[in-house]
Amino acid sequence: MSLSGDERVNLMGMTVSQLEDFFVQMGEKKYRAVQVVKWIHQRGVSSIEEMTDISRSLRDKLAGIAVINAPEVTYQKDSKDGTRKWIMKMPGGSSVETVFIPEEGRGTLCVSSQIGCSLDCSFCSTGKQGFNRDLTAVEIIGQVWLAVKSFDQPGQKRERRVTNVVMMGMGEPLLNFDNVIAAMNLMMEDNAYGLSKRRVTLSTSGVVPAIEQMHGVTDACLALSLHAPNDELRNQLVPINRKYGIEKTLQACKAYLDQLADKRVATIEYTLIDGINDELQHAQELVQVLRQIPCKINLIPFNPFPNSGYRRPSNNRIHRFRETLQQAGYNVTVRKTRGDDIDAACGQLVGRVQDLTKRNQRFIDAVQLGVSAAERAHTR
Ligand code: SAH
Ligand code: SF4
Repeated sequence: MSLSGDERVNLMGMTVSQLEDFFVQMGEKKYRAVQVVKWIHQRGVSSIEEMTDISRSLRDKLAGIAVINAPEVTYQKDSKDGTRKWIMKMPGGSSVETVFIPEEGRGTLCVSSQIGCSLDCSFCSTGKQGFNRDLTAVEIIGQVWLAVKSFDQPGQKRERRVTNVVMMGMGEPLLNFDNVIAAMNLMMEDNAYGLSKRRVTLSTSGVVPAIEQMHGVTDACLALSLHAPNDELRNQLVPINRKYGIEKTLQACKAYLDQLADKRVATIEYTLIDGINDELQHAQELVQVLRQIPCKINLIPFNPFPNSGYRRPSNNRIHRFRETLQQAGYNVTVRKTRGDDIDAACGQLVGRVQDLTKRNQRFIDAVQLGVSAAERAHTR
């Protein structure tokens, strides 16, 4: 069996069970799947030829029908604080961003799930760029593959730098359900990246039916981008709220936690925007509304950009908001801005590169119309 280049299947995005089916269909043994997954994701090889514990004849057969292709890195830069950022160009020409944030005892990789986003949150630049397309499973796990590989030292054993993954880059992961689930499956697969289910987090703006669909399909952690304590305000900031409302959304998150085998809390993300959702009264309302769900709260000071129409609150206001929640007993973190010198805030760099190359006229038009929105600070 031999196919021309474009028709060959890319093994990088396939889960163990998908590869098992693939090998069985080829008339081969199932256990080849684990061998191949280990070669690709644990050893970082991108050529079938290098898989030396697979017989020559099978390697030749495989090479005729399969490839191992990662996305193309067009930009990689390190910040003084150790943050590393990539722009990866995907087939079709559009780019996505991936950011690595090292911290005491862990390294978090922020991964994108779509090119653009259709949900149009009022403070998010990805949303303002519109929706281009879903990333494939290869393009999602490929971000992890490339990031992990970028830390390899020639001749030395792999050092485990990426310990956590958050699906908080560009896009709404639950609107690209199957590909995101397959990629997260590989992140948590022992024979691939072996990350603990407590260290892989899916962040959603609240696609309620898809949260329900997660039951039994994944056991990753869940983060909800809430950003407002009542429907009136959330309807303005996060338009998908008009469809489901806060109550239903929180209940869907709680139901997800309840069916997990272990006890877990949701992360509630709350982007603080000056004068919009950062008043004392909002914090007090939030204290009440979150009583119904076990959670911790991650406050994200709004990351400004030209023409967003929003501002980051003062440190005093951030402090006051945090104190109110803490005094009510909540575990609260405030995300620190990191990687400023390399535009690590997700969305910034792609916007700039695309501005320069005039590749994304739609984005430029949006900026010129003054409707462009925010960038995300990738930090925690
Ligand atoms: N679509 C998903 C995941 C990607 S966004 C979601 O919305 O959850 C990751 C986080 O960054 C979300 O909480 C999002 O609301 C937040 N964010 C977006 N733009 C921001 C900005 N300009 N400043 C601060 N946080 C922002
Ligand atoms: Fe999409 Fe998330 Fe941005 Fe909203 S915040 S537009 S859901 S990427």
